[in-house]
Order: sequence, then structure tokens, then C-alpha cells
Amino acid sequence: MDFRFTVEEEAFREEVREWLKKEIPPRWIELDAGLWEETEESWALSREFQRKLGQKGWLAPAYPREYGGSEMGHIKRLVLSEELNYNRAPISIEVEISVNWAGQALMLFGSEEQKREVLSKVGRGEAIFCLGYSEPNAGSDLASLQTRAVEDGDSWVINGQKIWCSYAHYADYCWLGARTDPDAPKHKGISMFLVDMKTPGITVRPLINVLNRHSFNEVFFDDVRIPRENLVGEENNGWYQLVMALDFERSLIGTAAAHQRFIDELVHYMIEAKGKGERFADDPLIKDELAEIAVQNEVLRMMCYRIAWMYSQNLHPSYESSMSLLFSSELLRRIANVGMRVVGPYGQLDTDSKWSVLKARVMRAYLASLSIGVGGGSNEIQRNIVAMRGLGLPRQ
Ligand SMILES: Cc1cc2nc3c(=O)[nH]c(=O)nc-3n(C[C@H](O)[C@H](O)[C@H](O)COP(=O)(O)OP(=O)(O)OC[C@H]3O[C@@H](n4cnc5c(N)ncnc54)[C@H](O)[C@@H]3O)c2cc1C
Repeated sequence: MDFRFTVEEEAFREEVREWLKKEIPPRWIELDAGLWEETEESWALSREFQRKLGQKGWLAPAYPREYGGSEMGHIKRLVLSEELNYNRAPISIEVEISVNWAGQALMLFGSEEQKREVLSKVGRGEAIFCLGYSEPNAGSDLASLQTRAVEDGDSWVINGQKIWCSYAHYADYCWLGARTDPDAPKHKGISMFLVDMKTPGITVRPLINVLNRHSFNEVFFDDVRIPRENLVGEENNGWYQLVMALDFERSLIGTAAAHQRFIDELVHYMIEAKGKGERFADDPLIKDELAEIAVQNEVLRMMCYRIAWMYSQNLHPSYESSMSLLFSSELLRRIANVGMRVVGPYGQLDTDSKWSVLKARVMRAYLASLSIGVGGGSNEIQRNIVAMRGLGLPRQ
């Protein structure tokens, strides 16, 4: 088995690295906004960067050219994603949501008009999506969602409440799941909609995350009237579309590269730092723990490659995506735990302290890692999927 990239793919990696050296704004590096830590300033920088990526056809690389992509093969897309993640380029979950989760689902199920209208803006970095899935009484059991969409003449009228909607306060569109047949079995009465977030009747209220930042929202729909043609795909077939979109959500291919950057930083810190006159790197226990997470990250890398390869073969990763998300989120927690031991009590100090270590990144990752095993479905739900779809075990 040969896991090497081709000469052309390696040359492309170099091209991306060179481009990133020029294009990642110095201020972005200074701000060092990690996952779920956006501020108005970091958000503005990242949106500008994303538009530049869009102009190169690298924001939605696998999309057709007419939608702002460059029809890039999935292995090359993997190389691009590895470089963006390792170099901490100004892209975050909003790009995944818009391009690879909602956008990818729209590519499969949307009408030509919906794709022309929305995907070309997404591919150029001019529009982003939020996901309208979870509700106060529908999280893991998402098929219990109660937001209603009722047909009325040329419109659908939507009423209900969504929760934990990441970036809804910035989003141009919502990829919304709503109940269209309350009498059908719960998985069979749901439809998916494309909702313009500027439509009257939508209220977005902030929820503050574990990092004390505004990344999620509650979204209320009060008699929100959207055009009839904004139904995506077949009425009452939304559960199928939603599950496909969730598989896309769980099939991140750049996570091992992001984790690798974190591991590399911890290793460099260990080599340079000293405590009581001894190099941290000489501590045999921490050395073992770092070696262990390095091995596990290599396993994750193979999972990412498997998913990219499946896409390249026109296969749809399903339980494979859940496996990868589960492993990746638990590994991030392990890395953050080991990291907290490496940086010690100083690791708890935020960037406003002169004694803070590694720009408080370890502490911030430690907190953010609590969310990673919940968003996109909790780790227990990923285990259930691997058991049922992967191992063929019964549902109950
Ligand atoms: C960072 C982040 C971003 C998010 N972004 C979005 C977003 O953009 N849009 C959106 O709609 N939602 C979003 N969510 C919400 C997310 O999808 C839900 O939080 C998640 O599905 C869990 O639902 P819940 O919070 O209602 O927990 P619950 O479903 O109430 O689960 C509570 C606990 O019970 C366990 N549990 C539940 N059912 C089972 C079962 N069958 N087997 C075993 N264990 C079970 C769960 O694992 C969990 O530990 C986000 C969440 C996070 C953390």
C-alpha cells in the first residue's frame, strides 16, 4: 500500500503553503482566534480571507466552476484542507457548514435555481449558512423536531424555535428542518427548506459558549413566510436529506492536520521549557503520553484519508464519518489533557497575563474540546451509528 501523494499533489501542497505565507493576515495570527472564539474583528478578517480563497476556487474546491469551485479532485482537496488546517488559516466551521454540509446537501437535492442562486455565492465566499436542526426538545433525537412549515398559497409559513445555531447571527441562509406532516411517523413528516435569514419574523438571540464568546444562537420563527420553491427536494423526504448532510458534517478531512499542529507546539514547548532546572522533555511520563497521542493522531490521519478516498471514488462515507468524528473529538480531549499537564498551572492563565503560556491556547483548546464531542451529534450517538450502520447491531 502506497500512501504517498503524487508529485503533482506535493507541488500543489507547496503552492498552497507559499500562498498562505503571503495571504494569512499578520493581525489574524496576532489575534489567534481558535475554534468558537470569533470576535467581530477576527470574523471580518476571516470573511475577507475566505473571499480571496473563493476567487482562487479554493474555498469550495470540489464544486463545479459555475458555482465558484475548481472541480478539484478529492485527494487534492485533502492536501488543501491539511495545509489550511495546519497553518491555522482564517477559516472555521462556518466554511464547513456552508460549503461542505448544507452546500453539499443542496448540491445533491436542490433545484437548478436554488443551486445557481445560492451555491455560487457560497463558493465565492459571499454567503454563509447556519444549520436549523436542534430544538429545545430535539437534539440527539432530532427526528422529534416540532418546528412547523405549513403550505399557504405560494408560500410556506414557518413557526417554531431552533437552538444552538452556530453563526446564525452572521448567516445569510438557514438550512432548516421543519415538520410538514405532523400525522406521519416522525422520520417521515420532515422537509428541508432554504430560508433567507433576512425574512421578516426571524429573531436571532445570542447564546454564550464555554469560551465566553457568542458563537451559538436561539432562532425563533414567527409566521415566517418563504416562497414555495424554497422547499428543497421532495416534501416529507427531509429526514433522508438531513441524515446525508449530517454524514457530510461528520466527515471532516483536515482534523488530523489541525491536531498535528497542536501536538507539534507541545513538543517544541517541552524541548525548550524548563522547570526546577530540568527540561520538561526529560520527563518520561509526559514523553510517553505525547508519543501515545502522536500514534493516535496517525490513526486519525488514516481515517481522514479514507474519507477523502471514498469521496474520490464517489462513495458516501456514513459510519466511517461517525468513526472519524468520534475518534477525533476524543483525541482532541486527550491532547488538551496532556497539554494541560505539559504547561502546568501557568496553562490556566489567559492571554492578558504576562505569565500565560503558548498564548493560552492549551487552556482554550481544553475548553473548546468539551463542545467537539457534542456538536454534530454527541459521541454516544456516533457510537450508536458505528454499532448500527458499521457493525450491523440492532437499534435497541
Ligand atoms: C459547538 C456546538 C455547535 C453546535 N452547532 C449547532 C448548529 O449549528 N445547529 C444546530 O441545529 N445544532 C447545533 N448544535 C447542537 C447539537 O447538535 C446538539 O447539542 C447535540 O445533537 C446534542 O443534543 P442535546 O444538546 O439536545 O443533548 P441531548 O440529546 O439531550 O443529550 C444529552 C445526553 O444524553 C446522551 N444521549 C441522548 N440520546 C442518547 C442515545 N440514544 N444513546 C446514548 N446516549 C444518548 C447524549 O449523548 C448526551 O450526553 C451544536 C452543539 C455544539 C456543542
